[in-house]
Amino acid sequence: MTGTESAATRIDTTRPHPARVYDWFLGGKDNYPVDEELGRRITAIDQGALRAARANRAFMQRAARAVAEDGIRQFLDIGTGIPTEPNLHQIAQSVAPDSRVVYVDNDPIVLAHASALLRGTPEGVTQYVQADARDPRSILEQAARVLDLDRPVALSLIALLHFVADEDGAHEVVSTLVDALAPGSRLVLSMMTADFERENVERGIAAYAAGGVTLVARSRDEVAAFFRGLDLLEPGVVSVADWRPAGTPDDRGPVSLYGAVGAKS
Ligand code: SAH
Repeated sequence: MTGTESAATRIDTTRPHPARVYDWFLGGKDNYPVDEELGRRITAIDQGALRAARANRAFMQRAARAVAEDGIRQFLDIGTGIPTEPNLHQIAQSVAPDSRVVYVDNDPIVLAHASALLRGTPEGVTQYVQADARDPRSILEQAARVLDLDRPVALSLIALLHFVADEDGAHEVVSTLVDALAPGSRLVLSMMTADFERENVERGIAAYAAGGVTLVARSRDEVAAFFRGLDLLEPGVVSVADWRPAGTPDDRGPVSLYGAVGAKS
């Protein structure tokens, strides 16, 4: 693994990066003025963006817990982001300390935080891989050093696929990964939609595009298509805030991201 310093030197602070803009939304400190500027532009357009980021994070936590409580002990999380507590490995290892977690991201700022991602239980394993989601075979090859792919894995791509357009192979990425997983595995997805607030989301997409970041919104049916061949678990494809909600009713109601969990039989 590359050291933190050399990773840090590759961080491009002249352009906004998704992981850092999202960190700004969540109130983190690991972002630069270009990221904050884009974050502020988005929130000026769409007041719901902050709530959506927090609701997505809470969805990740509920989904990880649900999957761990279903007995899954291996996790492959692609598009991990800058760590905020609790992270996926902390949820998984709080349910079962021997859980094995592989994190993957392509942004060097996430690599710079790998030490925080790797602080897991002594019984479990956490590993970080710097790789691009659009190269799923390389991810599988590296993940297989830590995970037993003959046993169930929870594959999570949370708030990732809206950065990968269909033309860039979003469906092939998911099918290549899912095909490599054993029966009993889970697919956990969340991604942006314009179904609830079309105008705001479209303006937000334009602001990201102006910052050099491609973003795509997908309809409910387009999100469901990623689960073809899998069994969608209850409650199906819903706004992340409404996926097995745990908070107060005030926290519910649609935000502009769909979330769902499917099982491979
Ligand atoms: N999954 C986390 C973070 C979401 S932000 C959460 O939901 O809280 C999206 C993350 O995906 C960022 O960290 C960004 O760097 C990463 N990402 C975007 N495109 C990617 C790609 N092609 N390959 C790997 N990671 C990518």
